[in-house]
Amino acid sequence: MKQIYLDYNATFPTRTELFQKLLQNTASYGNPSSIHSFGRKARQTIEDTRHKLAKKLHVTPDKIIFTSGGTEANNMVLKGFFRETVNPNIAVLATEHPSVLQTATFLWGQSLHLLPVLKSGVVDLNHLEDFLQNSKTPSLVSIMYANNETGVIQPIAEIASLVHRYQSLLHCDAVQAFGKIPLHFKDDRPDFITLSGHKIGALQGVGALICLNNFSYEALVIGGGQEKGRRSGTENVLGVSSLGLALDSYDNDISKESQIRELRDYLEAKLLKIDPTIMFFGKDAERLPNTCSFASSGLLSETQVIGLDLEGFAISAGSACSSGKTKRSHVICAMGTCEIYANAAIRVSLGPDTTQDEIDAFIKAWEKIYLHNSESKKEARG
Ligand code: PLP
Repeated sequence: MKQIYLDYNATFPTRTELFQKLLQNTASYGNPSSIHSFGRKARQTIEDTRHKLAKKLHVTPDKIIFTSGGTEANNMVLKGFFRETVNPNIAVLATEHPSVLQTATFLWGQSLHLLPVLKSGVVDLNHLEDFLQNSKTPSLVSIMYANNETGVIQPIAEIASLVHRYQSLLHCDAVQAFGKIPLHFKDDRPDFITLSGHKIGALQGVGALICLNNFSYEALVIGGGQEKGRRSGTENVLGVSSLGLALDSYDNDISKESQIRELRDYLEAKLLKIDPTIMFFGKDAERLPNTCSFASSGLLSETQVIGLDLEGFAISAGSACSSGKTKRSHVICAMGTCEIYANAAIRVSLGPDTTQDEIDAFIKAWEKIYLHNSESKKEARG
């Protein structure tokens, strides 16, 4: 059976050509801290990738700290701020990824301030301003660029200027926006930006924290002093190298933005024809072009994920980190959606290589599951 991958927000499958180049480039690498030629070659790869990434993001290379991924970068900011600040005060968006939400809950417990979102999934800016006005000390605000489940994009420049007006700091988890849309970090930029390599086709286990603020926090990982003492441990040369190679496709992948959006909108129009009561989450906000999060009332998320897997389609229920646990999505609930729809939410996320034929095949497979479920419900009612 042909396998069709529609789960790009979980991970972007590494391209075969990238693997081949990676093996050629890194076959004889040493430890980047070694001074012999093997070590120097590894160091060069890391610094070349740092420069490449800096150029894409219009930042200087010294602002980039390589990490093991988005989760570690998010932990670095929140834990660093918590330890180094007197009376640390934080607000995080209710729809953040668990690597922000869980870390903030672990550190701040009851005093964590959750910022609500409007029904559209966009932050309630009035609420954010109230929080900043009432904070006695400068705060850290953590708001993601784009949501992993719904694709909803937050007005980051507007948020940054509001946060900075109150002498506070902004952390932005840009993991999902990275490689899908051009990242607009203009004059008023977040102080910290989180990125992850595997969302753009690099290997899993590499990411970066961009510190536009002078990051003077004590490191989370202490040891040999790598990354200028900000993140110890022998660098993941293979991972960082794969990030550099994935960046070669970055502009081309982003240039397919409108083609991907057209396919996504086509998918949504067809699904709506099958079930006119279907609910699309985040549809009233600016969204990532590749993400379609929807629910058909009474058709459970698990039924769809398992049924579609049997038909050869890879999709998700809620975020990848909570799939397998199939618990109701906190993102959909925070948007004020009733239980019956929240239990039915699934996410289809397209990539630059997704074709119309694949989307047509998906629609057919989903319709089969939908009709089967409707028939079963009719029979149960007698
Ligand atoms: N932040 C967001 C918005 C994500 O979607 C993810 C992963 O799905 C992460 C953080 C975690 O990144 P990583 O898998 O590199 O740890």
